Amino acid sequence: MPNKGKLTVICGPMFSGKSRELIRLVHIAEIAGQHTKTFKPRIDDRYSHSDVFSHDGIRGTAHPVDTAREMLSMLAFAPRLPDVVAIDEAQFFDRGITDACLWLIDRGVTVVVAGLDRNFRGEPFGSMPELLAVADEVSKLKAVCMQCKDPRVTATLPQRLIDGRPATYDSAEVMVGGAEYYEARCADCHEIPGKPDFGSVVQGLFADQANGSGVPADASDMAGQVTGPDSGGSA
Ligand SMILES: [Zn+2]
Repeated sequence: MPNKGKLTVICGPMFSGKSRELIRLVHIAEIAGQHTKTFKPRIDDRYSHSDVFSHDGIRGTAHPVDTAREMLSMLAFAPRLPDVVAIDEAQFFDRGITDACLWLIDRGVTVVVAGLDRNFRGEPFGSMPELLAVADEVSKLKAVCMQCKDPRVTATLPQRLIDGRPATYDSAEVMVGGAEYYEARCADCHEIPGKPDFGSVVQGLFADQANGSGVPADASDMAGQVTGPDSGGSA
């Protein structure tokens, strides 16, 4: 009975060293004599089609695939499964990527995944939430914020810039590009013009219940009221 594998997810904004960490882990496995295979979505064609690029010149070879199913067929029909499967830019894969990873882990394969956990709006990106949920280990990397340049390395968010200006909330979720479209920023410096503010989001949460439940319709008042079981008085 073979041992199960495990899933490591490396996430964070661009320029946080995700691909470099992915390549490092693959490199270690290869030094240890393990058979590895690296994949990336074909959408990421910034660089040559057979490379994972790490933004600082370190390269590892990757097989571009269109779907999780294509990746799985390549692996399933090979004479044997690799010891380690690495996947870069995982946020661009379809939802099948999580099942594919679980299938591999079930067969004893070590799986290492790198990807953006949040899109330019600061929201969970693609299949990354599921991958993070089933991961055995998570590395959440940070970058230097290109706005405030805080030396504590505080950037957790991808800032999309179009003609040097922050992209608006309704801009498409996927727009592949390198340094010309994106920079890493901290939460204080991250800008998304047109993003619904959290007051209205919270108000939406209570909108259904508000019908007859006595929950205040104006959720902007909630901050001061929701502090504990005794503080409500809303019923
Ligand atoms: Zn900042």
